[in-house]
Amino acid sequence: MNEERLPAAYTADIREMLGDSADAFLESYHARRTQGLRFNGLKSISASGRAAAQQAVSQFSLSPVPWCPAGYYYEEPARPGRHPYHTAGLYYIQEPSAMSAAELLGPLPGEIVLDLAAAPGGKTTHIAALMQGQGLLISNEIHPERAKILAENVERLGIGNALVTSATPGDLSKRFPEVFDRIMLDAPCSGEGMFRKDPDAISEWSPKHVEMCAARQWDILQDAYLMLKPGGTMAYSTCTFNCKENEQTIERFIQEFPDMELIVTKRLWPHLEKGEGHFVALLRKADSGSEDDAALRNSRSKRGGDRGKSGPKVNASVRDAFQQFVSWSAAELPGFTGQGVPLLFGESLYLLPEAFNERLHTGMLDGLKVPRAGLHIAHLKKNRIEPAHALAMALQPDQAVRSYDLPSGGTEIQAWLRGESLPVPPSLHGWTLVSVDGLSVGWGKASSGQLKNHLPKGLRIQKAHIDEV
Ligand code: SAM
Repeated sequence: MNEERLPAAYTADIREMLGDSADAFLESYHARRTQGLRFNGLKSISASGRAAAQQAVSQFSLSPVPWCPAGYYYEEPARPGRHPYHTAGLYYIQEPSAMSAAELLGPLPGEIVLDLAAAPGGKTTHIAALMQGQGLLISNEIHPERAKILAENVERLGIGNALVTSATPGDLSKRFPEVFDRIMLDAPCSGEGMFRKDPDAISEWSPKHVEMCAARQWDILQDAYLMLKPGGTMAYSTCTFNCKENEQTIERFIQEFPDMELIVTKRLWPHLEKGEGHFVALLRKADSGSEDDAALRNSRSKRGGDRGKSGPKVNASVRDAFQQFVSWSAAELPGFTGQGVPLLFGESLYLLPEAFNERLHTGMLDGLKVPRAGLHIAHLKKNRIEPAHALAMALQPDQAVRSYDLPSGGTEIQAWLRGESLPVPPSLHGWTLVSVDGLSVGWGKASSGQLKNHLPKGLRIQKAHIDEV
C-alpha cells in the first residue's frame, strides 16, 4: 500500500511519535499483511487422525508466533479458514499481534472472567482455552448481530463455560459490581493497526474520530473498573497506535482511580515484529484486604444484581426438562460429565457453569440479552430430546455411545459439511456424533443405512469453501 493513501494528519502523528523510526514504520505498509491462527487447547486430534492432521497442517506453512505458544503464522496461498478443521474448531484465525492480549491477561482455570467487548471472539476463545473449561467466562458484545457471531464462535470452539451476553457496559456494571477476577477490555478504537489488513479503515480515520474513540474508551473503562474485584487484573487493549487512545487513556485512568496500578504496557509494532500491531496495558486493582470489606462488597453485589427480580428459575418445568436430558444422556453419552445449573429458554435447555453460583445468581440475568446461557445442551421437542449442536462441539467422540469418523482428506466430510446425508452400515442406529479425524463436527441420526445430517442450516457451507486449503 502507498504512503500517499494515508491521511496526512496520521503520518504527522506517527512522525511525531516515532521520530527516526517513522520511516521504517511507514515502510511496513509496503509489506504484505501477516496472517495467523491459534490452536484451540480445548480440542485435540485423535491418535488415529494424527498422521492425516500433520499432512493437512503442513500445507499451511506454519511458523510460531513468539508471544503465544498456541499461535502460528500461516502463509498464502493457505486458506485454513476453509479447511474442515476450522469448522471443527481446531483453531481460530487471529491476527498474530492480537494474540498478545490474552497471554498478558493470563486467565487461570476456575476464575470468573469478563470479556467486555468480545465479538467476533478472538480474545474470548483464547481466554477460554487458557481457562481449560474451568470457571466462568462472560463474553459480552454490545451489538446484537455481532453477539450472534460471537456465540457461533464460542460454540464452534467447544467452549462450555462461557455465557454470551449483549449489553452496554453500563448495564453490566450495575449487575456485576466487583465480581470479576480478570477483565479483558479490547476497546473499540480508531483501528490504525487495521490499515494494512483493511484499507477501508483508512477512510474512517480522522483526528475527530480518534477523539471520539478516546472518549468512548474512557466511558467503557469506568464501567470495567466497577466490575473488577479488588485484587483483580484487567487488560486494556487496542489495535491502534494512537497515544490518545493508549498511553494517555491509561494515564488518565490510573490518575482518576488511584487504586489501579499499571503493571506493564506492551506495544507490538509492525516494523519491529511480524504482526499488524497492538497495544496492551495490564492493570491491577488494589486489594482492600479486610474481611468486613469483602462481606460488604458481597452484600452490595447481591443487591446490585437482585434489584427485586427473580430471573430464570430452576422451577418444575426446568427440572423436568433437565431430568429428561439426564435420562437421555445416561444412555447416549456415558462419558458426559458436564455439570451446572439448568436453564430453559423456550425449548432450548442450557447448562450454566457451576462457577456461576459462586459469586453470581440467575436473578442477575433478568432482562439481559443472553444469546448463550452457558452450554446449549438440548432442544425439547414434544416429550423428546434433541441434542444441541453446541453439545456435539463440546464433546469428544468417545464420550458418545455412537460416533462416526470421517477422514479430513476425503469427499465424505465435504458432503457432510454441505449438509448432505451419508450412507452408513445398517447396524448404526440413533444419535451419532460425527467427527473429522477425531474432532466432533455435529450430530447425525442413523436409521436404515442413512446418517441424516443435523448440522444447523446456517453452518452448512458451499462446496467452494471446503475443497481448498
Ligand atoms: N475482542 C474482539 C476479538 O478479539 O475478536 C474484538 C473487539 S473489537 C476491537 C471492539 C468491539 O467493541 C466491537 O465488537 C464493537 O462492536 C464493540 N463496541 C463498540 N462500541 C462499544 C461500546 N460503546 N461499548 C462496548 N463495546 C463496544
